[in-house]
Amino acid sequence: MILKDIDEIKKIRESAQLVSKTLGLMANEIKPGVTSLYLDKIAEEFILDNKAEPGFKGYDNFPNTLCVSINNEVVHGIPCDTPLKNGDIISIDCGVLKNGFYGDHAYTFSVGEVSKEVQELLDVTKKSLYIGIESMKEGNRIGDIGYAIENYIKIHGYGIVRELVGHGLGQSLHELPEVPNYGKKGTGKIIKNGLVLAIEPMINLGTEKIKINDDGWTFVTADSLQSAHFEHNIAVIDSKPELLSTYKYIYQALGIESDEEDKFNNFFNR
Ligand code: MG
Ligand code: MG
Repeated sequence: MILKDIDEIKKIRESAQLVSKTLGLMANEIKPGVTSLYLDKIAEEFILDNKAEPGFKGYDNFPNTLCVSINNEVVHGIPCDTPLKNGDIISIDCGVLKNGFYGDHAYTFSVGEVSKEVQELLDVTKKSLYIGIESMKEGNRIGDIGYAIENYIKIHGYGIVRELVGHGLGQSLHELPEVPNYGKKGTGKIIKNGLVLAIEPMINLGTEKIKINDDGWTFVTADSLQSAHFEHNIAVIDSKPELLSTYKYIYQALGIESDEEDKFNNFFNR
């Protein structure tokens, strides 16, 4: 694992915050009738206008700026010209590269009115992300993060995607260590100050089993039920988890009040 000094963490934060603003822009645009290709175009223009590069475009030959995963799609969906419908959920994962450092995070949005069952999947998945982040303190181990997420998700009976995991973040989009969303307490590498992670639970309404589509990119649930994905970028500073990304731009766009990030803002936002 590569530990970062505060100047490097500031650069990752700048990239992460640009992703946060891009997701805020998406929140304003998402509604029935809009296509994910249109969202992709707006996101790319915004990132370029901010003197950064889309972090995913061209990565392993991925064709677009956004990964857009709708309903039963788990992650890595390719933007397309199918209009969104009322009741859909759409996970948008976005990466940027600026000053040589990556930001990479994601949010699952509702399109119009979603069912109670699906709304609960979104709420629980996002909550599990914060529960995981709480475990990212100096002296804990990587397995403690996955353990915390799994323990909370288990109560709800959802499927935790096993094949895809969170990761270290910095000058590369994906650094070690891998951060599974399941695990055993007290296992894995020790968490230290300067560690920067992308923690990203991918949680299915039904089975944990997934498969890959014919496009070679899009992962979908094996039972075609919905899947949710929330991702934040976090650094360990002064032994505590510090959020580098934020959902506040999304919440501003949607008129939502939330204090969910407050306890992870001790260094930069106080
Ligand atoms: Mg991501
Ligand atoms: Mg990621």
